Amino acid sequence: MNVADSEVVSGILHSEGYVFARDLEDADVVLLNTCAIRDNAEQRVYGRLAQISAFRKKKPELVVGILGCMAERLRSRLVHEEHLADIVVGPDEYRKLPLLLEQAFEGEKGIAVRLSRVENYEDIEPFRADGISAWISVMRGCDKFCAFCVVPFTRGRERSRSLESVVREVEGLASRGFKEVTLLGQNVNSYSDGRHDFADLIQHVAEVDRSIRVRFTTSHPQDMSDKLIAAIASNDNICNYIHLPVQSGSDRILNLMGRSYTVDHYIALVTRIRAAIPNVSMSTDIISGFPTETEDEHRQTLDLIRAVQFDGAYTFKYSPREGTKAWSMVDDVPEEEKGRRVQEMTELQHAISLEINRNLTRSIETVLVEGPSRKSPLFWMGRTDTNKTVVFPHAGETSGDYVRVTIERVNAATLFGGRASSSSNMAPMKEAAA
Ligand code: SAH
Ligand code: SF4
Repeated sequence: MNVADSEVVSGILHSEGYVFARDLEDADVVLLNTCAIRDNAEQRVYGRLAQISAFRKKKPELVVGILGCMAERLRSRLVHEEHLADIVVGPDEYRKLPLLLEQAFEGEKGIAVRLSRVENYEDIEPFRADGISAWISVMRGCDKFCAFCVVPFTRGRERSRSLESVVREVEGLASRGFKEVTLLGQNVNSYSDGRHDFADLIQHVAEVDRSIRVRFTTSHPQDMSDKLIAAIASNDNICNYIHLPVQSGSDRILNLMGRSYTVDHYIALVTRIRAAIPNVSMSTDIISGFPTETEDEHRQTLDLIRAVQFDGAYTFKYSPREGTKAWSMVDDVPEEEKGRRVQEMTELQHAISLEINRNLTRSIETVLVEGPSRKSPLFWMGRTDTNKTVVFPHAGETSGDYVRVTIERVNAATLFGGRASSSSNMAPMKEAAA
């Protein structure tokens, strides 16, 4: 989401004549787009700001700006108390950046952190390099106010772009050769432009160009309608992958978190999804050590992980966030205990992911080639429809091609293809199979 927001910011600044600097030495302005979801995200930004402050001693005219959720949360503190930035701009005020920068060049400090009920930047063309994969923000903000979460405070109320503006953007990306779009929103499936819901939106996006894969994130279980499940099932180019954060396997904790579903609801939803979309892959987010979480409730979360058999899970230690409902609760699970619980979940998930991936050995997967693998230029890296990373040897294809790859070995995170054949020689493979 921050990559997408940074592309919007770049779009705004580019149209004012700004260009990217090669490096810090070359820059007149440094903008950091920040996240405030957990304390460790903010600590990383502070680390980076310390480096920039040190550099600024050599180049005092450098303008430093903090953008995004941390800017929204800490506001003037960053400018007046901590003296870390000249300008602080929240997620809904990026249109003011050119003006604020001009004032900063004159030595004025600037803070713009008003949240908007309508800003969705739909008329701004994000500045993207050519590539295979693009992020598209389709809605902003969140109205759910989960007890642990700062997002509704830093990104404001939910609002969606018009279906037409999203479709136009996808058409533009198609004409530039993009092969994958990911529709983004904090609760992407509660998208509504007043006339269309998320199922309508994804259906229209999928129809733009059937050679473009359509992904989306993040879905809230409450808004996972049967209509949306049917749209995913009935469009080949909507990927069979759903990230569906569950947060906990305990009904008492889910209730305290304000998550509006029970474990049984969640499992029933997964069952419906799997019945409608064969081979769908699913991942989740889980928070460990929410206030008052007991060892037994942690075990219930392990049971849920076992019961659902996720393809992957992102697990986080609970981090208290000022202003949230849970902020007033005592953060009573010690850090080491949260760490141990996260570790147990990670180990369990690792074993499950490995087992699921092992069952894919010898299967043939259609992989969208994204680029050279990290370890060797002789190998490509791409992903399956189900969002699994595949590494396989070159055989004459290029980035953006769809390639049929036979999976030869796996680990919990990656599938390795021994032999690849480009789509143009798919026919002999089929004949051989026949
Ligand atoms: N809108 C999405 C989640 C967005 S935040 C949803 O509701 O599912 C991404 C993830 O960060 C969340 O799913 C949650 O697992 C984690 N998270 C959010 N606030 C957190 C906090 N205070 N401490 C630890 N993890 C948190
Ligand atoms: Fe945060 Fe997601 Fe809950 Fe919204 S639905 S408050 S973004 S966790």
